[in-house]
Amino acid sequence: MENKSSNFIRTIIQKDLETSKRDHVITRFPPEPNGYLHIGHAMSIITNFDLADEFQGKTNLRFDDTNPLKEDVEFVESIKEDVKWLGYEWDGLFFASNYFEEMYNRAVLLIKKGLAYVDDLTGDEIRSYRGTLTEPGKNSPYRDRSVEENLDLFDRMRKGEFENGQKVLRAKIDMSSPNINLRDPVLYRIAHTTHHNTGDNWCIYPMYAFAHPIEDAIEDVTHSICTLEFEDQRPLYNWIIEQTEMESTPQQIEFGRLNLTNTVMSKRKLKQLVEEGFVDGWDDPRMPTISALRRRGFTAEAIRAFVRALGITRGDGAVDSQMLDHFMREDLKLKSPRTMGVLRPLKVVITNYPEGQEEMLEAEINPENPEMGTRQIPFSREIYIEQEDFMENPPKKYFRLFPGNEVRLKHAYFIKCEEVIKDENGEVVEIHCTYDPETKSGSGFTGRKVKGTIHWVDAKHAVPAEFRLYEPLILSEEEEQVEDESEEKTFLDHVNPNSLQVLNGFIEPNMKDVKPQDKFQFFRHGYFNVDPKHSTEDHIVFNLIVSLKSSFRL
Ligand code: ATP
Ligand code: MG
Ligand code: MG
Repeated sequence: MENKSSNFIRTIIQKDLETSKRDHVITRFPPEPNGYLHIGHAMSIITNFDLADEFQGKTNLRFDDTNPLKEDVEFVESIKEDVKWLGYEWDGLFFASNYFEEMYNRAVLLIKKGLAYVDDLTGDEIRSYRGTLTEPGKNSPYRDRSVEENLDLFDRMRKGEFENGQKVLRAKIDMSSPNINLRDPVLYRIAHTTHHNTGDNWCIYPMYAFAHPIEDAIEDVTHSICTLEFEDQRPLYNWIIEQTEMESTPQQIEFGRLNLTNTVMSKRKLKQLVEEGFVDGWDDPRMPTISALRRRGFTAEAIRAFVRALGITRGDGAVDSQMLDHFMREDLKLKSPRTMGVLRPLKVVITNYPEGQEEMLEAEINPENPEMGTRQIPFSREIYIEQEDFMENPPKKYFRLFPGNEVRLKHAYFIKCEEVIKDENGEVVEIHCTYDPETKSGSGFTGRKVKGTIHWVDAKHAVPAEFRLYEPLILSEEEEQVEDESEEKTFLDHVNPNSLQVLNGFIEPNMKDVKPQDKFQFFRHGYFNVDPKHSTEDHIVFNLIVSLKSSFRL
């Protein structure tokens, strides 16, 4: 499926090929393995892989694992799984940490060229010497160390002779540059800690700003696509590529990150939701992680269609999360079987249906996709309907069941409410109805009409099931609003206390063998997915993917 919505990056690549600036295209998706991927990462994945595909190029999956303090192999595996699930196959699979030796050599080259120096200032001192937007920075007293001294100190940093924070390697660029990123940025820091890939081989680690351009160049990446917050780093990116004399010259291109209404996206906040128990893990269906969306029942097809329709822009406003729901419905409409489920059951006895008798009724599996065939539904004297489909004293325009009123049971008969049975507290516990055998669905009965059609399941054969209904986890439209750290309120104050509702109801007996991740449209309720984590053979759990109704228009 192709979507040619606005994409300025495509235009850049096209031009690069036409003008022979490039003769091939290589992109990369470079996650830091410090958490689970979320829908924002999906945008980056889809953008990188789709663009390369379009120009017969390649896309690498590269783990940007240059920070040993936050990374873990657990995340490496989940990231691979998520990229595959989204429908993509990477060309190369790389770890930035495998380039540590090369990065070190390039840093030595900078020192030899007089373009890097070992600094003894503390982190705080470096920050205060850096200046501000309106004030230039100040040179470090160590800035003019000789090449020989720098080479010796950097070698000893590598050998582990210094403590964490005692020394750093800095680029020697310009402490009065209007771009603060160019005021002698730190290239290497000391961290005596074990790395998930390189173990204890290293105690100095490159900073992102130094490592990333070199990683791109080593892999011959042509278009290094990243989010807008890196725009001010582009001059440094280019400086590193040029001064470390990398053969390949990747171009950094920034685009606006994806933000969704009612959603927090940063890993830090998602982690907080998990650790403080607001959700039951990274894959809780209310989370915006790929693993949570998958578990909730979202499909890769719908996520791809959503991202492609959004296109790539340089803006970073929040997208209405209902737009994603819209693509979800579109994807499932023709694919998913229709079925009936009662979420809040109320017993109905059909008093004139002979006791002990039962029959099978035929129903289409998907009226919008007749090829899916038909299913059999048992019907007998006792059924369950939805509590909200009965009212003893209905308001005007309530066309469902109430004393004296007749409705159609979907795929079955007309029934008429004759009697309401209550318990000692006056609660309605059962409804007695009569049915009219003439009105059987599909019989062509035209004698009279009813205004309401309700769903039901046969009480004797019904299979119990748990339904989990979800609402947005965050009750704020914009992520920025909940991000304002200067205020007392944090995003946690916007967590929706009603984001999960658990109901115990019944489903059609032909559903008893459903498998995890099977998706259905429950008539009048919405699309549901069989939860892979909590469903067992005798306890089926359904996650609400999206309800049927939406005010969203594309
Ligand atoms: P977070 O801020 O959520 O922790 P990150 O940017 O630190 O995300 P990385 O692992 O570095 O996470 O991200 C890998 C790639 O995904 C980067 O190229 C990054 O720019 C991109 N990315 C991350 N979040 C988004 C987003 N919301 N929209 C688009 N791209 C994103
Ligand atoms: Mg990052
Ligand atoms: Mg981050």
